[in-house]
Amino acid sequence: MPTFEDAQSALEQHFSFSSFREGQADVIRAVLDGRDCVVVMPTGGGKSLCYQLPALLFPGVTLVVSPLIALMKDQVDALNARQISATVINSSISFDQQLSRLQAMADGQFRLVYVAPERFRNERFLEALKTVNVSLFAVDEAHCISQWGHDFRPDYLRLRAAVEALTDGAKRPQIIALTATATPKVRDDIAAQLGLHRPASFIAGFDRPNLMLRVMPCKSDSERITRAANIIERSDGTGIIYTSTRKAVEEVTAQLKALGLKVGGYHAGFGEAVRARVQDSFMSGELQAIVATNAFGMGVDKRDLRFVTHYNLPGSIEAYYQEVGRAGRDGLPSVCTLLFNYVDTRTHEFFIEGNYPEPDLIRDVYDCLKGLDRDEIELTAREIAPRIGVRNEMAINSALVCLEKAGHIERVPGGGTIKLLDRVSRMLLRVDWHDLSKRRAAEERKLREMVNFAYEKGCLRQFVLRYFGDRKQPTNCRCSNCQPRMKWKDIEEAVEERHQRIATAAVSTPPAEPGGARALTDDEHLAVRKILSCVARLEGRFGKSVVAAVLRGSRAKNIQANQLDQLSTYGLLREYSQDDLTKFLNALIVAGCIRQSGTAYPVVTLTELGRQVMLDKARVELDLEGVGADLSDDFNDEPEHAETAKTQSRQPANRLGETHMKTLALYQQGCTIAEIAEQRGIQASTIEEHLSRLIEMGMPINLDDLVNAADRALIETAYTKCTEAGKVGLTPIKELLPERISYGAIRITLAALRNAVRGA
Ligand code: ADP
Ligand code: MG
Repeated sequence: MPTFEDAQSALEQHFSFSSFREGQADVIRAVLDGRDCVVVMPTGGGKSLCYQLPALLFPGVTLVVSPLIALMKDQVDALNARQISATVINSSISFDQQLSRLQAMADGQFRLVYVAPERFRNERFLEALKTVNVSLFAVDEAHCISQWGHDFRPDYLRLRAAVEALTDGAKRPQIIALTATATPKVRDDIAAQLGLHRPASFIAGFDRPNLMLRVMPCKSDSERITRAANIIERSDGTGIIYTSTRKAVEEVTAQLKALGLKVGGYHAGFGEAVRARVQDSFMSGELQAIVATNAFGMGVDKRDLRFVTHYNLPGSIEAYYQEVGRAGRDGLPSVCTLLFNYVDTRTHEFFIEGNYPEPDLIRDVYDCLKGLDRDEIELTAREIAPRIGVRNEMAINSALVCLEKAGHIERVPGGGTIKLLDRVSRMLLRVDWHDLSKRRAAEERKLREMVNFAYEKGCLRQFVLRYFGDRKQPTNCRCSNCQPRMKWKDIEEAVEERHQRIATAAVSTPPAEPGGARALTDDEHLAVRKILSCVARLEGRFGKSVVAAVLRGSRAKNIQANQLDQLSTYGLLREYSQDDLTKFLNALIVAGCIRQSGTAYPVVTLTELGRQVMLDKARVELDLEGVGADLSDDFNDEPEHAETAKTQSRQPANRLGETHMKTLALYQQGCTIAEIAEQRGIQASTIEEHLSRLIEMGMPINLDDLVNAADRALIETAYTKCTEAGKVGLTPIKELLPERISYGAIRITLAALRNAVRGA
């Protein structure tokens, strides 16, 4: 009998590993003790070693069942490279070869033999196996045996009979089943279907301390894009952004590209060549991120992924954790961010309805087919859908699968032909309703757990471990609930700052027009430098109004009390009014020279760009519309609060004129922009301007009528980008956007943004 000490020395000798991973030692001990085992470890957790190491110590051969031919070959190559004799028997080799390998196996030439599950269909193969001394029967990806697993493979159901064929009297090969899927149901199923004897059960290795799990609630798609872009920009490595649909892959890719990021899109709908190219440039590190559906990732071995971002909510904790698990395989800190918006649950509900349709829908599909006066029916799911008033085509397809399984129809492979096999009452269909509803309920439960995770207030790592049944207690957790602001403070702040800048620009400046920003005269440039040096002198202790008051030499009490009248910049710009100086300051914020932070009492500080301008090493263009327009407005020596009140009363509330109201009336009658323009004999662009002003004033206008949500998200992110780069006006925004997006659309979107900010 081999001992655990033997295993330890084999670990070093054959595998050159210095120690066992979490859980491995316990499993190997149990295997060497002769126990059947169920091993649950996450992907990459090191399951293979649990049977490969005992295989070296047992007298007979270890038979490994594995569903993925490509992965089998890799495993065998890796073993051979370690001087361990192993081979593979699957459909990639001829039957003669299979027999000769079986012979060699019977002769004891291999320690391990990998077998594809469909081999067990073959009687001759089973017969030949009886001559082989099998010590250990390892079932990899064992969840494939369970109809509750996500990857049920009927061939796995033959494994029990295969084990029986291998049993010689009382001598039955020991069985070890391994999977990454840990739901209790699947675990129980594995034990039952394989006929395990008192199996030892292990759940280990789920904890990944280097993954920083984060949930970020996001109100809008544009916020998701900003955050996703931020994660990419701040990361010092590459990563994956997962979305739940192909359409989203394409949209998110386009939006991130529009922000100047190097990303590639990947989903199963792209041609093989495209996918291969994207994957190659991702692997080589050429891309900053890949935007993908869950089709991407299986077998992708990039150990240094620094982040996995879920743009959409995954459908289950299993899917979520498998996907985030691809980050940080090298053990270094990696960020896993869930950009959470509850609306995503609808996509999943749609998928669930699509996969497990309601009984009535199945009955309707059947009735629809029955209602036709022929038995050979040329209809696709797409064509059936409108006939029964259903939009979810996927559900129609699933209904057809159910009907076929129940023997009511037969589908001719390839074409869209359906053969109707009987005409029974809709209430007498032989579909297994109970099974269907159980499956559906199981999917719904998984989705609910995922949503619970997103709303979890406690430790996220603990939540996941509990979910998988791993009893380990996490320590020093850095998830977003345990250390919300630690490592990722800078990201949070950067996002807040951007939003703040959008907000400030939106509230305080008049709507930017094309060419609104212009080069400054030398006098203005000098004024700007003086303003910036005043901001620098006040060292981030005060807000805009104090800066303006100091510059114009205000004698207000708070200025004197703080001895701000002693500053060298005091009274440097007496020729400007408080209002003008505020406009300068706002324009400088928009241009990225000044940063405004804090919410209750926002204070201003210089940015690096601002410092450069102050030192006359750089010049900026500013939108100074209205500066010097009303010199009569002099707030000299009024207390600060009075001035604020006055500034507020000068919001453009009174700027809605009769012409706006006429446009509004026509809009409310359901006219399009073009129609309003035509009726009023005014340019469409003017109508767009009216509408944006109306939106800005909070008039009830449905944005979706004017600019679709995807375009709005594009515009908002382009706007953020421009603001960051200190570019003002619509032109630079337009340049970042696809041709089809008009100035009007940009104007309307920014107006909505201003309105939202003001309303917030
Ligand atoms: P799983 O099947 O659980 O997804 P694998 O068995 O393929 O994981 O192992 C993942 C990786 O971890 C492999 O590269 C393997 O060589 C490595 N590995 C496994 N056990 C150890 C160990 N004790 N020490 C170091 N590396 C290990
Ligand atoms: Mg494996």
